[in-house]
Amino acid sequence: MSEKPAQIQTKLDWSGYESYGSFGSFDFGGFGESEAAPASGGGYAKAAAVCMGKRHCQDKDKGVMCPSYRVTDDEKHSTHHRAVTLKAALDGELGEHPFLSEELAEAMEYCVSCKGCKSECPHGVDMALLRVEAMAQRWHQLGHVPLRERMFAFIPRYAKYLKLLNWVCTFRKRVPLIAKAMESWLGIAAKRSLPKAAARDFISTKSQSLTATDGAREVVLLVDTFSNHLDPQIAQAALDVFQTAGYTVHIAQPAAGERALCCGRTFHSNGLIDEARAEATRLLDVLTPFAERGLPIIGLEPSCLLMLRDEYHSLGLGERVGKVANAALLLEEFLAREHDAKRLTLPLKPLTGKVLVHGHCHQKAFGAMPAMEKVLGLLPGLQVKFIESSCCGMAGSFGMEAEHYDVAMQMGELSLLPKVRAAEADTLLVANGTSCRHQIRDGAARESQHLAQVLQRAIQ
Ligand code: SF4
Ligand code: SF4
Repeated sequence: MSEKPAQIQTKLDWSGYESYGSFGSFDFGGFGESEAAPASGGGYAKAAAVCMGKRHCQDKDKGVMCPSYRVTDDEKHSTHHRAVTLKAALDGELGEHPFLSEELAEAMEYCVSCKGCKSECPHGVDMALLRVEAMAQRWHQLGHVPLRERMFAFIPRYAKYLKLLNWVCTFRKRVPLIAKAMESWLGIAAKRSLPKAAARDFISTKSQSLTATDGAREVVLLVDTFSNHLDPQIAQAALDVFQTAGYTVHIAQPAAGERALCCGRTFHSNGLIDEARAEATRLLDVLTPFAERGLPIIGLEPSCLLMLRDEYHSLGLGERVGKVANAALLLEEFLAREHDAKRLTLPLKPLTGKVLVHGHCHQKAFGAMPAMEKVLGLLPGLQVKFIESSCCGMAGSFGMEAEHYDVAMQMGELSLLPKVRAAEADTLLVANGTSCRHQIRDGAARESQHLAQVLQRAIQ
């Protein structure tokens, strides 16, 4: 028998799902009737009840959904089971503290937030977002956020000091005992490499506006935490491309003396919603005036830039989210659009050789891969192939976590890592996600590049 369902105060704004009506049961155009929405949780419950139970998410032959089901072959790790378990939690079937229940933790455990379900499930079940709310509720019911999750979430706050810890990465690599100790103490997989920070970040070395050319089109470059502190060469490559193409580039910068801007992705992914909202507010303060002027806001890291178009809508930050979301584009989307509008004048010298491309899950979920194809097609000497891959397995911090390492590697082995290993040594590997590049490095001992770096090679 169900206990009285716990009434929860959701951390995210689920009002967008309220329009699914008050039900009873409801019908979604031929896909069947849902069960009644859970008794508590409001719009959150209705978002979980979007799952119709037809289990297309368990059809392994279709698309890239759902990597955790694909590698485990276990219904318990499918989108459908997650939705069913969440509904049970909100219906009071999992006890007084449903977000601390084993059932819910187990159901959510291998979800890598790839958004495959949001784009491929016929009803667009957004399990990545549902899971973030479940995590936030879990921390609330637990009374604290565990150390490891705090450590991953707060990266943007201490990223500028990471370069001082590069010696730890080297030492850990040389002395396996250190890696083992970190695994037992912090839960970070001993078999994982740790990313190293660059000696100098990108943002602090740049002024806000560059190459202000009369009559030139203006763009805003949004440099995320990872491109800023780990891979500033990628941000520099994007800047070189814009400048060569004659754009006036505004680099999104904080007020003088403040720490670098951040989209809030790491906080959001770890269920720290208040902190994610605080980061998003700072970023919107800077980006809104640019968006109101009609300038495109261009980002490099898929999961960071696409957060502006997706998760920001659930943070309750008002109508300026819509303005910024409409202006936000990935580098490849912007260049493809400029090319189609015959506004792109990028002198490119021919490059030769083979290129193998792995798309980040969020690039795939938001339809950015055709733009990748179009932009790489501007380099006629290259033979470009795209890997039919699902999530690389790293998925932010997921693949770093000791208990998830094996599943993360199995996800990589589904198609990405074997294809990379089989590629000739001089094949150029392209992956726009920082996690994907990390997984390729660890799983196949190969280095890969961002699209911006490929274009940088070709600009004259
Ligand atoms: S998650 Fe989507 S595909 Fe899977 S059962 Fe629910 S509605 Fe069907
Ligand atoms: S976000 Fe990805 S891993 Fe999670 S349920 Fe959806 S398809 Fe599966």
